Amino acid sequence: MASSEPTLFNQVVNLCKRRGFVFPSAEIYGGFRSTYDYGPLGVLMLRNVKDAWWRSMVQMRSDVVGLDAAILSPPQIWEASGHLANFTDPLVDCTACKTRHREDQLEDPNVCPTCGKEGTFTEARAFNLMFKTSAGPVEGAGTEVYLRPETAQGMFVNFKNVLETIRKKPPFGIAQVGKSFRNEITPGNFVFRTREFEQMELEFFVPPEEADTWYRYWMSERYEWYLELGVPADKLRMRPHDDDELSHYSSGTSDVEFMFPWGWGELEGIANRGDYDLKQHAEKSGQKLEYFDQSTGERYVPHCIEPAAGATRSMMAFLLAAYDEEKVNDEVRTVLRLHPRLAPYKVAILPLSKKDTLLPVSEEVLKLLQPHFMCDYDVTQTIGKRYRRQDEIGTPFCVTVDFDSLEDRAVTVRERDSMEQERIPIEELVSYLTQKLGL
Ligand code: ATP
Repeated sequence: MASSEPTLFNQVVNLCKRRGFVFPSAEIYGGFRSTYDYGPLGVLMLRNVKDAWWRSMVQMRSDVVGLDAAILSPPQIWEASGHLANFTDPLVDCTACKTRHREDQLEDPNVCPTCGKEGTFTEARAFNLMFKTSAGPVEGAGTEVYLRPETAQGMFVNFKNVLETIRKKPPFGIAQVGKSFRNEITPGNFVFRTREFEQMELEFFVPPEEADTWYRYWMSERYEWYLELGVPADKLRMRPHDDDELSHYSSGTSDVEFMFPWGWGELEGIANRGDYDLKQHAEKSGQKLEYFDQSTGERYVPHCIEPAAGATRSMMAFLLAAYDEEKVNDEVRTVLRLHPRLAPYKVAILPLSKKDTLLPVSEEVLKLLQPHFMCDYDVTQTIGKRYRRQDEIGTPFCVTVDFDSLEDRAVTVRERDSMEQERIPIEELVSYLTQKLGL
């Protein structure tokens, strides 16, 4: 039974808080609006989302390398990229109830969604989304720095460094995962839109004549990535931007969108950015940002295809897609049907009873599995309750150690989705679970 959409959002948000995935930030001080902390399970899952991306985009390829650039950055970068001038949202104030809104997100541009009054909006003004601060002890000219609003520029400004230090020629890419900051006018919908979030971006540099082919290639690769990690096809779509939505430098952009409980929302944008970024930085920095092909004597500025995804936003989509409730023996079982790669814990080790006799062998099993898998170990409550707790956090396998284990050196392995149980010798556990998890 799939959970009905209007309540799905609340169920997932509640589960996140209750089970330690996501906490409201600074909660003991009343919370800090639309900012979140990732708890013991959330940090594992978010890391798994980022690792799954890194695995597919860097580890499994020979044409992509990684980067971890600084978050604090000088204004020159953002002047060259166009962010200082253009990274704005249209802000309107309601003169009646004093609330602020993004004009392009209003259902009716004349009606305030908060107070319902008509014709109360001020003229829209461009609001720059970048967070500005100052570096060093003296405030004033020359000390201002920005928190990066995207990770992408780190790849462009390091293009020359990377090219000079690795033996790659276009087509090749630079990948980065990390925090970005945007002073969003209307953050909300849980971690869908926050002011501090994590991105996973690839800048893939190609010979100009191959740009369109690679743009299509990355559209299909990225769509498949979400499918493989368990997002059902009917909740995922690729939406090409209309001409009037395109950024001035982009000759094509498509968004991977997920059906959130409130409608379709972007998970990732794939853009054909042409040579805009390298040319801008070359012009402003006075450096040559181009590729010289020694074999042909040809010199050119590569074009860039950018798949830009959100890690925190994707995590939310994976949670929504995985949440399920079903009736088992007249009781509702909540189960997160997460892909094993994304599940916070891969295995839970559960001694059937707290009796001292079971603990040594249970701990032995734990120590055996820990080097291979992220494990939970739980000795509280009845075994039924402990299975439900693991179902609710998406743990693919539970390993139960019982009194027979002392005699036969075997344990019961229970699979999350089917709830089927199998008796497996302890010495075969690692290979059995490795094969079943398919990691
Ligand atoms: P939106 O239209 O939703 O504001 P965007 O088109 O500005 O997003 P991009 O600049 O293309 O977003 O950023 C790439 C990805 O980064 C987005 O698809 C999204 O997953 C993520 N992202 C962007 N802004 C936020 C945010 N404020 N909170 C969480 N994730 C975000």
